[in-house]
Amino acid sequence: PLSGKVALITGSTSGIGLGIARGLAEAGASVVLNGFGDPAEIERIKAAIKADFGVEAGFIGADLMKGEEATRLVTEAEAAFGAVDILVNNAGIQHVAAIDEFPVDKWEAIIALNLSATFYATRAALPGMRKRGFGRVINIASVHGLVASPFKSAYVAAKHGVVGFTKTAALETAEDQNLTVNAICPGYVRTPLVDGQIADQAKVHGLSEEEVVKRVILASQPNKRFVEVEELAALAVFLASDAGRSTTGSSLTMDGAWTAR
Ligand code: NAD
Repeated sequence: PLSGKVALITGSTSGIGLGIARGLAEAGASVVLNGFGDPAEIERIKAAIKADFGVEAGFIGADLMKGEEATRLVTEAEAAFGAVDILVNNAGIQHVAAIDEFPVDKWEAIIALNLSATFYATRAALPGMRKRGFGRVINIASVHGLVASPFKSAYVAAKHGVVGFTKTAALETAEDQNLTVNAICPGYVRTPLVDGQIADQAKVHGLSEEEVVKRVILASQPNKRFVEVEELAALAVFLASDAGRSTTGSSLTMDGAWTAR
């Protein structure tokens, strides 16, 4: 369904971003990857996408903590691949600490990457999408864009910001031909980011990592299992497809009933 489309996925060298990149490639899109990582490993990821799905796969490095880098990423992808039809704002980081002990540099970094980079990249991508009469912006928020948890003040603030930004962007583009902006709000997905949190939470709660998974992590997710990246990829493919053209301004959960409580 996505052949002929170009997708740019931020933070796609690992975890959810990589899973979504592979899902969009499987659906026929050319993919532009971004993120940190060992160059040899990034080459392997690109080669695997080309071999598995027979689509173009590129990589453009950018440190999305910086607004001008996020802007450059979009313009370089457009120049190299002819378009950015699908923009997935996925790159994100987490830090777990009480507010009165929260390191201020971590606050600034989380707001810059998890929230502001979404603004900069979307701002850069919209004019081309409007010109071509097709665009899909998919922001990877979180259940923490809709509800809160203690010790995650910066992350919860940034992700609520992403949900709000998504609504505004959808209203501004609502009358544009075939252009949608949505957020996906996953519960816990077992990625390197969550492995880091398990370690941090173990410290905060004085528990073993195994106990944290059972008593803290999966305690908030009523279906008691992690969301798989392939499930998120399938939702992104739907949003990017023609069937998704009336779905805009939505924050779609995939959280095992977390936010149903
Ligand atoms: P991850 O740590 O596995 O991947 C993060 C990606 O972002 C990597 O490719 C990394 O290289 C890249 N990145 C980090 N800093 C960057 C920077 N400054 N510039 C450019 N790229 C950078 O994390 P993940 O769990 O796959 O998370 C991806 C997104 O999903 C994040 O926005 C996260 O908040 C969100 N999310 C994750 C979960 C979960 O349970 N894992 C749940 C809800 C939402």
